[in-house]
Amino acid sequence: MELTSKCCIPLSDGNKIPLIGLGTYADPCKTTKGDSYEAVKVAIETGYRHIDGAMLYMNEDEVGQAIRSKIADGTVTRDDVFYCGKLWNTFHPPHLVRPALERTLETMKLDYVDLYIVEMPIAFKPGDAFYPHDENGKCIYHETDLCATWEAMEACKDAGLVKSLGVSNFNKRQLELILNKPGLKHKPVSNQVECHPYFTQPELLSFCQQKGIVMVGYSPLGTSRDPSWVNLKCPPLLEDEMLISIAQKHNKTPAQVALRFNIQRGIVVIPKSFTSARIKENFEIFDFCLSEAEMEKIQGLNKNLRFVQLRMWEDHPEYPFHDDY
Ligand code: NDP
Repeated sequence: MELTSKCCIPLSDGNKIPLIGLGTYADPCKTTKGDSYEAVKVAIETGYRHIDGAMLYMNEDEVGQAIRSKIADGTVTRDDVFYCGKLWNTFHPPHLVRPALERTLETMKLDYVDLYIVEMPIAFKPGDAFYPHDENGKCIYHETDLCATWEAMEACKDAGLVKSLGVSNFNKRQLELILNKPGLKHKPVSNQVECHPYFTQPELLSFCQQKGIVMVGYSPLGTSRDPSWVNLKCPPLLEDEMLISIAQKHNKTPAQVALRFNIQRGIVVIPKSFTSARIKENFEIFDFCLSEAEMEKIQGLNKNLRFVQLRMWEDHPEYPFHDDY
């Protein structure tokens, strides 16, 4: 199939997801007010039709404002834009799921989101704090019942608040738990997980493809390398010699090659940039093609090493990354 900037991947529920989206996570302490708004506007002007966000990112107000302003000026219609929101770990109890989604909708001033995903398979104690902790600074977990949370997600789709439902950071066992749930009404259409040339996820990709679940690759450029949450033992992806040499051959940048590698494997990419030139650069991945030999060479860079390990929560009973995949 020829890949174009308008390319979408069909979802198992009849909807579709654009192959590239703009990631919108940036540390709120290091970001100036208005940056998310400007970035989303530039992205939509550039041709992006998919925006990845979350309540946790604390900027859904600006993201929503940018989407609405691009609808108001006629650049796009609401139907053209695909917004993915996320259910945070403190909202897993079923009675909190719909209020969480409604909070996102109110903040963004939207009637629905296109995709709503369970951000992580681990529940935290509900309350005002996103990261509840005890007096020793230890995160306070909460009983996790992924099937019960999923049923509350299904009710949100039935109520018309969301078009498609998915998950994020789920391993194979956790996906199977949902897929095999008695009385399952809506299957997860996607699993958003870390994916890039240093962490290529071949087994999880193949499992998801067998089950009709689209893989969405987060941190596709190797993250911002913020030491507060990124595993810096994994070297900077965009400085990889092989990616640089393949990029030179195509007159492209290592970032464009890394993104192209994923989309050629059928993986949706959501690179984050709040810099106009790079927002545009990351979108220019539809005018070249990596050969089979190049794809194999890039696949060979896989280190099976995550940038996003979330090890502070590794003693949670549902910590997803103990399993091989
Ligand atoms: P990315 O891999 O997208 O990298 C972002 C970093 O790369 C930023 O520092 C950005 O800087 C820089 N950058 C962007 N484009 C280029 C380029 N062309 N050349 C060089 N540097 C570039 O990291 P993220 O971890 O942010 O992942 C992307 C998105 O995935 C997030 O924003 C979020 O939406 C989602 N995500 C989801 C997670 C989950 O658990 N579900 C976990 C992590 C991320 P600058 O802005 O200055 O351009």
